[in-house]
Amino acid sequence: MSPRNLGSLLVGATLLVPVPSQGQLPDGLDAYWAEVSRTVADGDFRGYASLYHPDAVLVSLASGTSVPIARALEGWEPGFVDVREGRAAAEVEFRFTRRLHDAASAHETGIFRYSLRPRGGEASVATVHFEALLVRVDGAWRMLMEYQKGPAPEEAWDAAGESTEAGRGAVGSGPAPRPEDTEVWEPVPRTVRPGRYAGPTSPPDDAIVLFDGSDLSEWVNVRDNTPAGWTVADGVVTVDKSVGDIQTRRRFRDYQLHLEWRVPEEITGEGQARGNSGLYLAFAGDPPGGYELQILDSYGNATYVNGMAGSVYKQHVPLANPARPPGSWQTYDVLWTAPRFNEEGVLESPARVTALFNGVVVQNDVVLKGRTLYRGVPVYRPHGEAPIMLQAHGDPSPPISFRNIWVRPLR
Ligand code: MG
Repeated sequence: MSPRNLGSLLVGATLLVPVPSQGQLPDGLDAYWAEVSRTVADGDFRGYASLYHPDAVLVSLASGTSVPIARALEGWEPGFVDVREGRAAAEVEFRFTRRLHDAASAHETGIFRYSLRPRGGEASVATVHFEALLVRVDGAWRMLMEYQKGPAPEEAWDAAGESTEAGRGAVGSGPAPRPEDTEVWEPVPRTVRPGRYAGPTSPPDDAIVLFDGSDLSEWVNVRDNTPAGWTVADGVVTVDKSVGDIQTRRRFRDYQLHLEWRVPEEITGEGQARGNSGLYLAFAGDPPGGYELQILDSYGNATYVNGMAGSVYKQHVPLANPARPPGSWQTYDVLWTAPRFNEEGVLESPARVTALFNGVVVQNDVVLKGRTLYRGVPVYRPHGEAPIMLQAHGDPSPPISFRNIWVRPLR
């Protein structure tokens, strides 16, 4: 159909609908774009993917393709993993030139600017004309079509920033929070030589044994809820980074937990890329997923102190550093008090943690500020009983091992 025919058809059929409101944006639409920016900056792939309608389509004029969003997401996931694991930093900013909407649908036209900077490298930046079609499903905005039209010149980007109303046009603009913004480097907790490791602590008879050396029947893979795929051998389970994080089948509220972990003697890397894992004390799933008691080789390995072993990651520096050298077994004993939320999802009481690392108190009934974030400040989101999660960190150092994991729910 030629444009002329199309025009006459539209006029002839009086397909004109009321001019979309130029007034207030519908609830949650700006928050939607802010969430897109957040998930990109955090490398939160699952969060990002959830912002699309399952039947969404990506149309790219530049590459002349139209594909289901699942296909596009497959291609984008590795970039998110690089960001989440600190190998790269990404951000995206949106500027809109036209916003058509009613309460349940929106057609957004504008330009996005996406940048990806590998650690130690130069950022690559794409500035792209785009349109997005969104629908509101059960109260949540979901993108049904993303139409990438092609590169936008710098003047168009600048003009888009100027031509829109303050507070409406540039969503997610301004610098995204940087990981280093929430690092604390000083003072460094004093080193304590812990007592001798006396061998695995046998669980009390009322404990739920999560791993006794034989199998991972109490655990599933986070990514697809299938039986946990880490390697069990010689009474020890070793992280398989290709499998990803694992979590307990059971859910817990408040508990006492014992866990033993070992960084391999031949560990390589430095800082956060040396024996990194993590004990997520409650892993609610929806991002940001949970509350991390950091696991890392902290024996003579400098990093930010709110990211060393025994830290509540980026929230609470450990009171001491009782780390044993790589190749040694180390113990965590944890008292976890889960946060409480009322029926409206409002926080009623925050989470609290007491933790002993190799028998030395490293966290003394500290109050958590929310779920762990690599970028930005912790946030609370409501959840009930939740699994315990063990992290498969993507750094290239050899994987760590665990054994003798048990928990006693507290009522
Ligand atoms: Mg970790």
